[in-house]
Amino acid sequence: MLGDSISPGMAKAEDEHRREICSAGRRIHARGFVAATDGNISIRLDSRRILTSPTNISKGMMLPDDLVVTDLQGRKLAGRREPSSELAMHLLIYQLRPDVNAVCHAHPPVATAHAAACLPLNKALLSEIVMALGCVPVAKYGTPGTPELSDALAPLIPHHDAILMANHGVVTFGADLLTAFFRMETVEHFALVSLVTGLLGKQVLLSRSDVEKLLVARARYGITTASGVSPDCPVTRETAGSVASEPARISITREELEALIEEAVRKDRARS
Ligand SMILES: [Zn+2]
Repeated sequence: MLGDSISPGMAKAEDEHRREICSAGRRIHARGFVAATDGNISIRLDSRRILTSPTNISKGMMLPDDLVVTDLQGRKLAGRREPSSELAMHLLIYQLRPDVNAVCHAHPPVATAHAAACLPLNKALLSEIVMALGCVPVAKYGTPGTPELSDALAPLIPHHDAILMANHGVVTFGADLLTAFFRMETVEHFALVSLVTGLLGKQVLLSRSDVEKLLVARARYGITTASGVSPDCPVTRETAGSVASEPARISITREELEALIEEAVRKDRARS
C-alpha cells in the first residue's frame, strides 16, 4: 500500500478500494473541484455491489469506514452512514456501461461554469483531448437526485466518458477509479484552456482530417467510446461557425456603431 496513491486497475481488496475512494475525495477537494459536502465517488465492487461515498460529508475528510455498500438498486447493504444523494446517477451509469467500474461527480469551477452557460466542451482545440475524451456534451438540466436528471443523462452515457450537467457540475467515469478521476482533471483543464483561448480572442481549431487521424490513434490506445466525426463533435476548423453552439460574434465600440449608423443613414438619404 502506497500512502495516499490511487493505483490503476480493479483487482484489489475492498479495504484498498475504500482507502482509494478517500484518497480521490481528498484530491478533488484539494484541487477545488468541490465545496463543502459537494460531489460523490463510487466504484463497482462486483456484479451486485457498489461502494459509494456517503451523503453529507466533505469529500476531503472521508475515512474508509464512512463509505457505504449498496446493491445495484441502491439499497444499503453495509455502512453506518447513508449513501450519496446522487447514487441513482451512478447506478444508471453502471447499468448502461458494463465497461465502467468507477464514477466521479464534482463541481470543478471552470467546467461547471461551462455547464451553467450551457456551453459544451466540444471544440477540436487540443489533440490530447480529442483522443482522450472526444467531446464533453451538456446534459439538459434535471433536479439532482430525481429521475429527471437520469433521463437527461441516459442518452449521453453510452457515447461519452465525461458529461457536463447543466446548472450543476460534471460527471466522469471509467474502467477504474484512477481513470474516472483523471477524466475529471482533464475536463477541468480543458475547460480552463477553452476559457483562456476565448479570452485571448482566438481559437485555432484542428481540421477535420487532423481529427480523423487522432480518432484512428484513439482506437489504437483502446479508447472505444468516441463516436466518429459529426458536425458538432468535435467542432473542427471546417464546421466552426456553422453549428448552433457557435454563434458568430463580433464586438465594436460605441463610436464605431454610431459611425456605421451615420453611414447607413447617409447612403439612404443619397438614394432618395
Ligand atoms: Zn453535484
